[in-house]
Amino acid sequence: MKARRALDIGRAVANAETTASAVCEATLERLEHETGRFNHFITVAHERARARASAIDSAADRPRPLAGVPIAVKDNICTRGVRTTAASRVLSDHVPLYDATVIERLEAAGAVIVGKTNCDEFAMGSSSEHSAFAAVRNPWDLSRIAGGSSGGSAVAVATRQVPLALGSETGGSVRQPAALCGVVGFKPTYGRISRYGLIAFVSSMDQIGVFGANVRDVAACVGIIAGHDPRDATSALRPVDDYAAATGDDSRGLRIGVPRALLAEGLENGVRDAFDESLNVLRRDGAEIVDVALPHSRYATSTYAIVVMAEASSNLSRFDGVRYGTRATGAMNLEQMYSRTRALFGHEVKRRIMLGTYVLSAGYYDAYYLKAQKVRALIRQDFDRAFERVDVVATPTSPTTAFKLGERLENPVQMYLADAFTASANLAGIPAISVPCGFSSGLPVGLQLTGRAWEEATLFRAAAAYERLTPWTGQMPAA
Ligand code: GLN
Repeated sequence: MKARRALDIGRAVANAETTASAVCEATLERLEHETGRFNHFITVAHERARARASAIDSAADRPRPLAGVPIAVKDNICTRGVRTTAASRVLSDHVPLYDATVIERLEAAGAVIVGKTNCDEFAMGSSSEHSAFAAVRNPWDLSRIAGGSSGGSAVAVATRQVPLALGSETGGSVRQPAALCGVVGFKPTYGRISRYGLIAFVSSMDQIGVFGANVRDVAACVGIIAGHDPRDATSALRPVDDYAAATGDDSRGLRIGVPRALLAEGLENGVRDAFDESLNVLRRDGAEIVDVALPHSRYATSTYAIVVMAEASSNLSRFDGVRYGTRATGAMNLEQMYSRTRALFGHEVKRRIMLGTYVLSAGYYDAYYLKAQKVRALIRQDFDRAFERVDVVATPTSPTTAFKLGERLENPVQMYLADAFTASANLAGIPAISVPCGFSSGLPVGLQLTGRAWEEATLFRAAAAYERLTPWTGQMPAA
């Protein structure tokens, strides 16, 4: 199938120019054919997709605006009747009894869920190599990582097998793989999108995010899934703006802050060049580029690591073989059953549970966890100050382009540094978006824009304005 925008597919199906079933079959065929190359899907949802597509085709009024639009979903978001594994052996046979709210809302708008994408186990990682299934490969270079943790969703969109995909964000897991695969990736304000049905990792940061091949599709999709959900106590009552409409404006008069000091170190040259050029483009379009200071964001990855491990160790205690998922067999007593079941977690998950238990222990709580919470408040305060002067803050999304598979597996600290520019938005609870901004040695680079809490519309406006001025969003990997 030719690469088409989600909204164009939705319109064509709604106007009966084509059928949801035809779109669905073409998509399933490609997924079937290409999953072995990229390892980007864990489950292709043939039955559910076909049933949904034919229901749309036979409806008197076809739903809008996503009628028949195929959507891929990260495998840590629950889908009724379709296995949801979080890429873990602990949930390898877990079939949820209910749909996440985002799934219900997408289907009500006409979307067809075609499958569940591969990711790092329980969304812990920056490369989609920590999956119990297989490592996801980057379509721009199969020897490289796709980014993580939502790597499979990024690849599904980068290859245009689907126009939209859902991921989850705790420290950059949508924006970073979006940047590394050359697509648009968005993370909302904390509380903007319901996470009922998202498998918990870090409750104070987890959010569902969206991948798309262009800003307008992403904005429209966010408009559909955003908004209060009585089933998620952390979801906000705030009204949802018309995000798709916001993509029509130019960037004239936008004030864009750049934290130069933060970008002084650790940035790959090609990434720096593409980023600087993107600022020139925005400046020529009428935006004002201003220096801002985010002095505490240099502690973002360390602060993030402590908060994440603490909360993950607590959230993952529920996987004990009793209530969910896999139960290890052959245990002689309860203790053994717990430990054999929990032995099924992969290395990275075990590392985080152990370190998290440590930073929460009586003797170390003040030194690590409490301290991290204080730095978290300072990181947020820096943003509040910056947003008194600017509308958005711009940085590269990732300090490097996609690295080689295996390159950082033995070095978790190197792996965590991939989140150097993304984690602060999660710590601060504010929205951010990554848009393609060029290439470095043939590999995609992402421009990240971070905004004020609840002002997603400004981000979509700025990102769409930039996208219109550059050719990068249309680029697809050759293969
Ligand atoms: N790379 C980060 C981590 O490993 C981000 C994960 C995420 O956003 N889910 O924690």
